[in-house]
Amino acid sequence: MPELPEVETTRRILEPYLLGQRIQKLLHNDPARYRRTELAEGRKVLGTSRRGKYLILHLDKKLEAVIHLGMTGGFRFEPHRHTRVTLHLPNQTLYYTDPRRFGKWWIVQVGDYREIGLLARMGPEPLSPDFTLARFKQSLLSTQRKIKEVLLAQEAVAGVGNIYADESLWLSKIHPERPAALLSGPEIRRLYQAIREVMHRAVEAGGSTLSDESYQQPSGEPGYFQFHHNAYDRTGQPCKRKGCSGKIVKMVVGGRGTHFCPLCQRI
Ligand SMILES: [Zn+2]
Repeated sequence: MPELPEVETTRRILEPYLLGQRIQKLLHNDPARYRRTELAEGRKVLGTSRRGKYLILHLDKKLEAVIHLGMTGGFRFEPHRHTRVTLHLPNQTLYYTDPRRFGKWWIVQVGDYREIGLLARMGPEPLSPDFTLARFKQSLLSTQRKIKEVLLAQEAVAGVGNIYADESLWLSKIHPERPAALLSGPEIRRLYQAIREVMHRAVEAGGSTLSDESYQQPSGEPGYFQFHHNAYDRTGQPCKRKGCSGKIVKMVVGGRGTHFCPLCQRI
């Protein structure tokens, strides 16, 4: 699933093609999934932003196009067999592709996220000044859930999904099943720093393209952060931590396949 780094990479690449352009046509045949897109036709794109895993196009007439890429959504510059939405601009056509069709689009009035519950209660962006250690600590101490589940829930911090939760927990040496409220002060600080570091480095690397190759940059180029994974998708491989002789194992936490080193991330 595209997480913060993949959505941010997509946003950065698309922005120059969108800024100041007027959307001529938005074509698709699934109005339940791509909602009220007719409102975006004829509108000018004033800017782009991202909240967690949501891509937002800021349009004139106080409208926003909010796009969630679901499990396999993405944009391409060239026609693609899994194109679901075609976005016609004066000098460029963008193809929204989504083999598994879990992605969604909404055209809404600025800030009206009533239909998009998760966006309305999204926590702070991990790379913004709003994400402070004190605020993070507070949200961990006030829950009964396991730390991996808390990270996936988007309320303590935005944009962390399965890949980057496993990577952040590995980097901070925390077992994914630890109750969040029982983490020590130093552990919370390590995790806070790990999330910021992992997200920063993953954005720089253009995100992660896994073996299913579902995520690609709009040019068709993959991301490169998968080569730096320490835990995710490394089941049975040696732990990369210096001096650790453990092997990465996979277990299910909160319904999601979870990768960690049982030697240096002890319960
Ligand atoms: Zn280890």
